[in-house]
Amino acid sequence: MSTAVAATPAAAVTNGEEKTRHQEVGHKSLLQSDALYQYILETSVYPREPPAMKELRDITAKHPWNLMTTSADEGQFLSMLLKLIGAKNTMEIGVYTGYSLLATALALPEDGKILAMDVNRENYELGLPVIQKAGVAHKIDFREGPALPLLDQLVEDPSFHGSYDFIFVDADKDNYLNYHKRILDLVKVGGVIGYDNTLWNGSVVAPPDAPMRKYVRYYRDFVLELNKALAADERIEICQLPVGDGITLCRRVK
Ligand code: SAM
Ligand code: CA
Repeated sequence: MSTAVAATPAAAVTNGEEKTRHQEVGHKSLLQSDALYQYILETSVYPREPPAMKELRDITAKHPWNLMTTSADEGQFLSMLLKLIGAKNTMEIGVYTGYSLLATALALPEDGKILAMDVNRENYELGLPVIQKAGVAHKIDFREGPALPLLDQLVEDPSFHGSYDFIFVDADKDNYLNYHKRILDLVKVGGVIGYDNTLWNGSVVAPPDAPMRKYVRYYRDFVLELNKALAADERIEICQLPVGDGITLCRRVK
């Protein structure tokens, strides 16, 4: 079906738009056709995006590192997932300005909790007024600093074992496997971990000598290693989805 669409003159025009659309903030898709992605955004995502999330998306668009933000369709996906699994106690590693954090905070019940970690407080504080205005800041416990030592502290305390319903990992990709070793103890059996960017800009299938931005090339091997390790890990069931830049859901079964 997509081949037939790609052969039409209309798709050629669409292809002409692709370059600019892919540079839009939060415009992240691995779909072949940009028009299809735009269709999803305009039909199902933007009309249902909570006003606070739209406001945070607009603020983030003006920030120089805006490429890091979670896309609106992924925000909607996370929100749906959290509600489907009835998540209450959650963790987020990698907050930036807080788009996925706000999606989570809005999706959790009134007494829901998010332990949120980031080395950078300044970016979190850029989005914080929007989170406060939305009335969900009380669900967030933000910790500034590298995630690994904090996870080590949590793992040392048995009362945290198996206590998280959902953990979203969206930080330094070279540490994902280190995070995995720790958070697997912290998520409950039946709980879910989401590893973000597991298709890493599509670079997971690029030949080694393909031109790539420096940071894409650097993290690529770590993402490849993570994907193999997750596929071989019998303590989890996995599902890798082409949402955003790829998200791998891991359901702890042991
Ligand atoms: N989830 C965010 C959103 O929806 O906008 C995007 C997160 S961004 C892709 C990655 C974040 O990870 C950055 O804000 C960065 O400061 C943070 N980070 C990088 N290394 C980290 C570390 N070792 N520990 C905690 N956070 C880290
Ligand atoms: Ca991400």
